[in-house]
Amino acid sequence: MATIGFIGLGNMGLPMAQNLVKAGHAVVGFDLSEYAAERLAVGGGSRAQSLDDACRDAEVVITMLPAGEQVREVYLDDQGVLASAASGTLLIDCSTIDVETARQVAQAAASQDLAMIDAPVSGGVAGAQAASLTFMVGGPEEAFRRARPVLEQMGRTIVHAGGPGNGQAAKICNNMILGASMIVVCEAFLLAEKVGLDAQKLFDIASKSSGQCWSLTSYCPVPGPVPTSPANRDFKAGFTAAMMLKDLNLAQAAARSARAATPLGAGAAAVYEQFVESEGGAMDFSGIIRFLRGA
Ligand code: NAD
Repeated sequence: MATIGFIGLGNMGLPMAQNLVKAGHAVVGFDLSEYAAERLAVGGGSRAQSLDDACRDAEVVITMLPAGEQVREVYLDDQGVLASAASGTLLIDCSTIDVETARQVAQAAASQDLAMIDAPVSGGVAGAQAASLTFMVGGPEEAFRRARPVLEQMGRTIVHAGGPGNGQAAKICNNMILGASMIVVCEAFLLAEKVGLDAQKLFDIASKSSGQCWSLTSYCPVPGPVPTSPANRDFKAGFTAAMMLKDLNLAQAAARSARAATPLGAGAAAVYEQFVESEGGAMDFSGIIRFLRGA
């Protein structure tokens, strides 16, 4: 069992760190919020007073932070992870951030002979709690091999997507598919309503036809056909519209710098931006059907 420094104990990080405690690791947690760090300590982990404190004796350091800005700060600051970690420490960033920052930080780690991977996740808070996350990993083969047993204690599917930053690339491509497909599934249900086709009938047919997709069959945006979808609980999140907008904007930033044409991805980002501005980002992302109904 390892000593693991865990930085960022929010909605995702806390249950991930708790699963590592349950697996028998010594987990030392740090968060700017004392409350978050305290909750880890209650469950059997311990609370670090500083970043340095969390990293100094760790064999593995895991970060789960909001965005690229915090990842840069936490890794690259004078008293950050790269300054504090002992040689041989394995660094795993699970935050969803831009590809460019992921590659810059990985390069800075490599220049200090520290092994690092980017390992963003899919599966949400429920997946973090159930240790059933999917990890999309970018980084050197050897670092992936070392990280795998640790990731397996927080997730079920672990895929090596290539070199540094490729985990982030996989995450934003996946979520661009999800955002655009959710919008068009909502549009189909609204069109069906206008032309007099019952929602359940559309579901029964499209879920067995070529329109079939995850946004329809697992996360249907109208109440009824999929009882577990947020549409049945007034769009209480799940995965918030604000998070979806963040990921669509990350995809657009990557598309601009790589000069990739993504007209539907750009359209999805614009529609989610209006939705977040008008309704607030806290609603589940499938609640965009409400915005489209009024648009
Ligand atoms: P969150 O805001 O709940 O947690 C982030 C935590 O980081 C907070 O507790 C905050 O205090 C802490 N933090 C911020 N700056 C810090 C610093 N400098 N030092 C130490 N701690 C710091 O966010 P979350 O929902 O846990 O998401 C974390 C990441 O996971 C994000 O990148 C998000 O996009 C991604 N993600 C979230 C979900 C989800 O459903 N919530 C799903 C997949 C991926």
